[in-house]
Amino acid sequence: MSDSKPEPVQNAAESLSFKAETRQLLNILIHSLYKDREVFLRELLSNASDALNRIRFEMLTEHQVLDPAAELAIHITVDKDKRLLILQDTGIGMTREEIIENLGTIAQSGARKFMEATRDSKTDFSQVIGQFGVGFYSVFMVAERVQVTSRSFKPRARAVSWVATGEDRFEVSPAEMNTRGTKVEILLKPDAAEFAEEYRLQEIIHKHSDYIGFPIFLGDAKEPVNKQASLWRTPKQELTSEQYQEFYRQATLDFEEPLLHIHIITDVPVQLFALLFIPGKAERGLFSLRKEDGLKLYSRNILIDEYNKALLPEYLRFVQGVVDSEDLPLNVSRETIQSTGLMTRLKKVLTNQVLKDLEALAGKEPEKYQQFWHEYGPFLKQGVAMEPAETEALAPLLRFKTNLHPESWCSLEEYAGRMQPDQKVIYYLVGENPKSILLSPHLDYFQAQGTEVLLLTEPVDSFMLMGLHKYKELELKNVAQAELPEKPKEEPKAEEIPAGEFQTLLERFKQVLGERVGEVRASERLSQSVARLVDPQGAMNPEMQRVYKYLGKEYEAPHKILELNPAHALLGALLKLKPDSALQALVIEQIYDSALLVEGLHPDPSSMVPRLQQLMQAALEHPEE
Ligand code: ADP
Ligand code: MG
Repeated sequence: MSDSKPEPVQNAAESLSFKAETRQLLNILIHSLYKDREVFLRELLSNASDALNRIRFEMLTEHQVLDPAAELAIHITVDKDKRLLILQDTGIGMTREEIIENLGTIAQSGARKFMEATRDSKTDFSQVIGQFGVGFYSVFMVAERVQVTSRSFKPRARAVSWVATGEDRFEVSPAEMNTRGTKVEILLKPDAAEFAEEYRLQEIIHKHSDYIGFPIFLGDAKEPVNKQASLWRTPKQELTSEQYQEFYRQATLDFEEPLLHIHIITDVPVQLFALLFIPGKAERGLFSLRKEDGLKLYSRNILIDEYNKALLPEYLRFVQGVVDSEDLPLNVSRETIQSTGLMTRLKKVLTNQVLKDLEALAGKEPEKYQQFWHEYGPFLKQGVAMEPAETEALAPLLRFKTNLHPESWCSLEEYAGRMQPDQKVIYYLVGENPKSILLSPHLDYFQAQGTEVLLLTEPVDSFMLMGLHKYKELELKNVAQAELPEKPKEEPKAEEIPAGEFQTLLERFKQVLGERVGEVRASERLSQSVARLVDPQGAMNPEMQRVYKYLGKEYEAPHKILELNPAHALLGALLKLKPDSALQALVIEQIYDSALLVEGLHPDPSSMVPRLQQLMQAALEHPEE
């Protein structure tokens, strides 16, 4: 439009009322004693930076801009005696309508959320007030009176001034201002006079606003006080762990320290800056800012995707952070980004680094790694199941409980180091839960030999085993397999039931159990337990059977082999009962059911109750001698 007449003058000063929730928020900010009041400066600087970003963007297409040559910058001045702090930017500015809306009458759901968060939590949420979209008002933690004067970039707009003291109303009136941008003048509360000291402001800027992308000038200084680079583009050696943590907190609103940060700055094989975090907890907190999984993807410092899921494999979806690459073309849509080979290369570099840093953490800080494993173990197991190419990198990160150390976690490397001199494979057992698995008859032999067996009791373990067949040169073997362990034949033990009599017993079992078992035979491997169920050769292995079960798939359950322990006293006593007696059949049924139960295969354990009552009854009718 070529109409360059200025807007009609609105002479009148106007007094307007803040929105209800803003009034409450102001009341709280003014009267609470926040520790971190200094963050108001970060909020004002962040608004100035937003306004500068917007004018830069506007100038790409819009030529009718006031002061097109003005330097994009922020100037801060103080008057200590008057307790005055003034921030001025050359950003996009605000018109009268905009200032009324933005700083007073817009409905602020964030205000309510902020108040809820501060009420229900011990955390000092003033630190992150900006994340609730009401950062501007944090100035009332330190201000007695605030005046905002602004001149929009639109050439016809007139300057406007906004004044508030934190009461229920604010005043808007025409103002004198010839240059584009916004000036915020703060009369500080007497107890906030420190914020009119340049050295103090400098300190705060270094702490919270060093990475603002526009120069911030303090007083008469010719050099900006801030670094102007984003944190992830800043060399590691210039950063402290506090800075990393603060960045993480701001990005996620998670107040728990992250378990690990991973900072990558590299040029090969792709140009890449990345700053990744592993949160302290797998569960996202109530106030988390991150609504979805995925990393923030920047290209040359400009955000192009808030939740990018293509930069890491799915099993690492708990990782938070930003990725920034100069190599990404800026003008491509999100969809085409996903399909470029560059994304694949970025993903590879990021994945490798995450796994490498986790391995380093395991070596340097085993306790912290345990914490990590506790939270994220199932994710890595899922990785083994889903990404065969990464099994080798993931294997050293896995942790297991074992029959010999059921309370602590061990790595496959530690297991290998503790193996028996003649042991050639890694043994494992799959079960339902950490307690019952220790009762498994499959452990009998290993327990007696002092041989270590990995105990796998999570549903995801069965899936993991589909991808984990070997660690280094060592094969993994399930001890529930009938042919394990390969044991030299020994002479029958003294207490064993003689072979002939035992044969009668086996037949009796077969007769009672019928089709339910494929075979009943003597075991060479049981010592403590009466019986165990094993699979016939060639059957689907136990973890696959479980996978089928979890996936709800139909499969023909194999007719298992019931193995009996010829040296067990219970079987000796059973033989002494009247052949074909009802009690003998009851005991046989119960032995079978118990074997199913420890195997985690019993379809309906409560069905055993009537039988157990009968057995108790029988025991009481023949009291102990
Ligand atoms: P947020 O920055 O999250 O939007 P704030 O409470 O910090 O919330 O700011 C409210 C709004 O006021 C901003 O969205 C912006 O439109 C306007 N605003 C604040 N400061 C400035 C400024 N320096 N220049 C231009 N607009 C501003
Ligand atoms: Mg803001």
